[in-house]
Amino acid sequence: MKIIFSKKFFTVYASDPAAEPGRMESIYNVLKDEFEFVEPEPLPEKFLEFVHTKELIASVKKDEVLYEVAVLAAGGTVKASTMALNGETVFALVRPPGHHASANYNWGFCFFNNIAVSIEKLRKENKIKNALIVDFDLHFGDGTDSIFKQVPEVKYFHVPDKDREETIRKLTRFLEEMRKVDIVAVSAGFDRHEKDWGGVLKTEDYKVIGELIKEFSESKGKGRRYAALEGGYNKSVLGKNVKAFLEGFK
Ligand SMILES: [Zn+2]
Repeated sequence: MKIIFSKKFFTVYASDPAAEPGRMESIYNVLKDEFEFVEPEPLPEKFLEFVHTKELIASVKKDEVLYEVAVLAAGGTVKASTMALNGETVFALVRPPGHHASANYNWGFCFFNNIAVSIEKLRKENKIKNALIVDFDLHFGDGTDSIFKQVPEVKYFHVPDKDREETIRKLTRFLEEMRKVDIVAVSAGFDRHEKDWGGVLKTEDYKVIGELIKEFSESKGKGRRYAALEGGYNKSVLGKNVKAFLEGFK
């Protein structure tokens, strides 16, 4: 298990909750002694165009500081996907998040769709034919959903519901019924925690979610899996929640 991370993600590139000072530090400090870290490279613009319009890219580019961090987050997620293709389990500890970014529109603290870009790059390079994206953030990833709506090879699944048992049960059921895929990507958002915005999941639930996706990956996804950070805003619990997920996922 490896973590893709750069201290450039400490940069406060905006005034939204995902860009808050101390948020990435709160995760990094919990993980730093236990995992091996790998530096990401910024993603060249031509790969962003696999999912985004030139207009959307240009709108992010207007802010130099934001653009620099955003292409590093996309590059880090792409790196995670290529390492996963070669059999390593990887977590991209990146920001800004991505799942609210669609082809030509972004909102909800997202700028480029990190996960969507990484999957499209693998597809366009003929490294995979199909993929599953599991999103357990509190919020529906409307950007990811819209990008793959007309693409039957890529299934987007947002883990639903308002209580712990149902969340786990519905994810379990979905994965049981899901067909085989070439890779599994995870939009890992931690804002559904009981002490975060959603007020639902306990820390140990993230370990169970990680284990369920790992089991699916091992049995029906060629063992290839990676995750990238989406939401999660309570700095006092974020680090331990990410760690719990990784313990199940690794
Ligand atoms: Zn969210």
